[in-house]
Amino acid sequence: MPKKRGHRLSIPFPGQAVEVRKLNRKWAEVRIPKLGWLRFRLSRAVGGSIRNATISRDGNGWHVSFGVHSGRKPDAPNGLPACGVDFGVTSSAYVSTETAPRLMPPSLTESEKARLKHLEQKKARQVTYAKKRNGGKYSRRLRRTLGQIGKLKSRQANRRQDFTHKLTTDLAKNHGLIGIEDLRVKNMTKSAKGTVEMPGKNVRAKAGLNRSVLDNIPGERRRQLEYKSRLYGSELRAVPPFHTSQTCADCGVVDPGSRKGCGRLFACVHCGHEDDADHNASMEIEARARRTGGTVTNSTRSTPRMRVPATGQRRTRETPQPAHAS
Ligand SMILES: [Zn+2]
Repeated sequence: MPKKRGHRLSIPFPGQAVEVRKLNRKWAEVRIPKLGWLRFRLSRAVGGSIRNATISRDGNGWHVSFGVHSGRKPDAPNGLPACGVDFGVTSSAYVSTETAPRLMPPSLTESEKARLKHLEQKKARQVTYAKKRNGGKYSRRLRRTLGQIGKLKSRQANRRQDFTHKLTTDLAKNHGLIGIEDLRVKNMTKSAKGTVEMPGKNVRAKAGLNRSVLDNIPGERRRQLEYKSRLYGSELRAVPPFHTSQTCADCGVVDPGSRKGCGRLFACVHCGHEDDADHNASMEIEARARRTGGTVTNSTRSTPRMRVPATGQRRTRETPQPAHAS
């Protein structure tokens, strides 16, 4: 199935008609209107009463996710230390209380990368053939190649998502106050630019890859932090992002000269404070978060309503295809 951007199959089902029964530790089945009972693998405990279900399909197969009413109350303020987080473009985060950035581990192993490259080449060859010799009709082999590529990319996306979830959970659990930059679309464009600037071959392919993988990143991190900080008794504050990278966390002087040569080093021209640039930014974000008393971004919704998809391991593989079961 050719995967186009924004063309991800996902069908919602409202709660009343959805019923789930557990078969054993790992398997359960869900009754979906018009489809009947479908078996699926439990990737995590359902943990509450089910309000709705969504069936979706990606390169890895069919998945079902549930909206769940967990009945869980937000924790009282946990009183843990504050931190500021400077997020890298796509795959890293520097926490002000730490001495090294948290880097996303490679989302594909070396052999998976090699395989992906091989498959992309194969696809190009097969597409050329389809255009020249087959009247544009995709061969069965080409469609198989596309499926294999889709599978690898879904796996990659899942691993990235896993990193983001572990990061945000850890931040919310272990801090009483989390400062982040109030970025909206800015980060998005930053990342796009970053990719285009990337030298060498495959820039276009890379852009496509990042697009498929990135759709969950900047807004998603914030969304996760918002509901998780509420759950764990932490507080999230989004601070104005202006010049965080040029502001000295020590003396507060803003000067582009403190970032000479765009290196990783921050050296304040005013007081001589030196630090890793990203760590300096995270310290500045933390300081701003401490200062901005009022503008808290969370606690907008008092009822805890936890949607299973929000927690990452939402995707449960499912054996029968809905088409068969009807
Ligand atoms: Zn300074």
